[in-house]
This record gives sequence, structure tokens and C-alpha cells, in this order.
Amino acid sequence: MSPIPFFDLTRQYGQVGEQVKSAVLSVLSTQQFILGETVSRFEKKIADFLGTAHAAGVASGTDALILLLKAAGLEPGEAVLVPSFTFYASASSVCLAGGRPVWTEVDENRYVVSPETLENALLTQCVQGPDQIYRSRQGNHPVRGIVVVHLYGQMADMEKISAWAGSRGLWVVEDACQSIGARLHGKSAGILSKGAAYSFFPTKNLGGGGDGGLVTTEDAQLAERIRSLRVHGSRQRYIHEELGYNSRLDALQAAILEAKLEFLPGWNARRQTLAKRYTESFSGQDVFRAPDWNDSGDSVYHQYTIEFRRPEDRDRVRKKMAEAGVGTEIYYPVPQHRQRAFQPYFQGDMGITDRLSSSVLSLPIFPELTDGEQDTIIRVLLDASRQGGVS
Ligand SMILES: *Cc1c(COP(=O)(O)O)cnc(C)c1O
Repeated sequence: MSPIPFFDLTRQYGQVGEQVKSAVLSVLSTQQFILGETVSRFEKKIADFLGTAHAAGVASGTDALILLLKAAGLEPGEAVLVPSFTFYASASSVCLAGGRPVWTEVDENRYVVSPETLENALLTQCVQGPDQIYRSRQGNHPVRGIVVVHLYGQMADMEKISAWAGSRGLWVVEDACQSIGARLHGKSAGILSKGAAYSFFPTKNLGGGGDGGLVTTEDAQLAERIRSLRVHGSRQRYIHEELGYNSRLDALQAAILEAKLEFLPGWNARRQTLAKRYTESFSGQDVFRAPDWNDSGDSVYHQYTIEFRRPEDRDRVRKKMAEAGVGTEIYYPVPQHRQRAFQPYFQGDMGITDRLSSSVLSLPIFPELTDGEQDTIIRVLLDASRQGGVS
């Protein structure tokens, strides 16, 4: 049996190569590399695709989060609720924008935050002062906002979360780096909050030929602020109103992304088909839990992640699958509250997050995976789960 990779971008290039090459060549012929027509055209197209009023290209998903947090009003020394079960940049962006993370658990069935997990973080990690403002137990930082992460491509319930946040006087920003194209009740990320941050890291559902990112928002003023922050805090050449960054989406990246955008709906649909096939094949076993298709049908399945009932099964099965030539990954093996970089913000154990980190496993789900390959993955996984599994 030939090995089945966890992910393989060369297959995608086989499909989009010609379009991508001609897009790159057309930018080269204009020699306009920074912002300009190509970037604005892509911003317009992606805003239409996402059904959002404004989109501003930036240099990475991490920068999108940093600029968005600043534009949302985060001031140095203020605290932000952020899940620990996520990629590092969901939380590092808070610190890099001057804020302090207050860790929140995720819903153990959906891997994303909910009003319940957020409320619990507020009540256990913070104290309400006479001025009604919640302050972090650690450091006494006033809590002002929330970073909601739509992990693995699945949207958190933004209607409920924004209602809850409103009742607590908190703003919300969304880390949609893994969820481009996902909608909940017809709405993309960024519509029910201050805005959303997207990443075009090559392995994301829409990936460039390098780093890139995007902020989307319904708020024209916020969009303007992002457009200023990404060019040295300047709206007018050589006039700097505030300290900004150098964080633009390259025209070359915009051109590649524009060429690939046409394919994204098909790719996301293929991911959903693969997810459905996985979930249907996994009923009737109890070694691991599969994502509930009905509950996550809107997901764009950046990852298809199962959770083993016993961590030792996860590690044993992963090893067996590797021996059979099937690639898998663990997102994420070290939760953020345990990272050395975030040590000043350690608040103690987080039961759900710690358990998920030791028991989740992501299976191959890239659009070019064939049905035959998927059948092999399913067979190898189920075989390995049965052997020496739960008795
Ligand atoms: C990829 C990712 C980021 C960071 O995006 P970059 O473009 O790599 O900076 C942030 N958050 C999440 C959840 C991500 O998956």
C-alpha cells in the first residue's frame, strides 16, 4: 500500500497550477507589489464571498488578530478571555497587542467556546469589583473582550456568544483562521462581532504561496483603522496618526489567492463529504468519539478530529497508523495555558483542555484525498482501535 499523507499541497497545485502561474505573471508584468489594484480586487471578491461589508488584507493571520484586537479597542494591561485549546497565535496576539489572556475552557463536544464556558471563566478566573467590572484574579486586569476561535473549521454559536458578551459589556473578535467559508445561520465570522481574522497560511483551506491574512468587519471605521494600522499608522503618505505596523498582504499573494478563491467552495464541499463519510463509518464503536455530523454540518472541516476515550489508545493507534503508512496529526499537543511563553498567565489546571490535548487525533481530510484512500484510512484506524482497545 502506498503511504497516505496527512496533507499534500502538490495535488492541489496539479489542479490550479496554470491559473496560479498566470496570476503571478500578471503581477510581475505590472511590477506593483505593495497594495494597489490586485490587492483591492481580491479584497472586494473575498468580501463578497464571505458576505461581509469590508475586508482588508494583511501580512498573516497572526497580524490580522493583532490589528483587529487593537482596532476593537484593546488597551495595554486589559484582559481578554481566550481559549487555551487552540493554536498559539490566538493567544499570543492578545499579548502582542498589549493585553493579558484569561484562559477559558471549550465545550468538550464541539471544541469551541460557548456562553457557559465563558461565564465559567469569568466566575472562576475573575472577580467583580464595586464598579461591576470583572478583573482577572491574576494581575487584576480589567476584562474587556473575548477571542472566539472557530477551531477545526467549526463555527462557535456567535448569536448566543454575542448576546452573552453584550450582557457583560465585553467586545468580541473572532479567530476564523481555520474557518474560511463556514457560516452559521447564513452568517460568516465577523458579522456578529467587531470583526474576524483569517489566515492564508499555505495549509489553510484557502492558502497562499507564503504568509497572508485578512480582517473582515461590518464596521467601516474599524476597516479604515486596519487599513491605517497596516501601513505604519498612516492614511495619508508621510502623515502618521498613530503607531502602526508594516503588515500588508502582498500583491503576489493576493493574485494567487484570487485565482484559488474560485475553487474554495468545491474544496470545502469535498471536505464536508469526506467528513460525513468518516462519521458514518465510525458509528457503532466506542474507542473514540467522532464529530457529530448533524451538530457540525456547517463546518468547513479544516480538520476532522476524533477524541479517544483513553489517551493511551490515541498514542497506540496513531503509532499503528503511522506503521501502516497513514499520516495523522495532533492539534494541539500542548495547550496554550501550559506554554512557557504564557507562563506569567498560568492560572492552574484546565481539566477539559488538558484531557483533549492528550486524547485528540486529526485524520487526513484534504480535498484531493481519494475515496479509496479514505477507505484505507478508515479500515486501518478501526483495526488499530479494535486491537488491544477497550475490553
Ligand atoms: C493559522 C492560525 C493562526 C495564525 O495564522 P498565521 O497566518 O499562521 O499567522 C491563528 N489562529 C489559528 C486558529 C490558526 O489556525
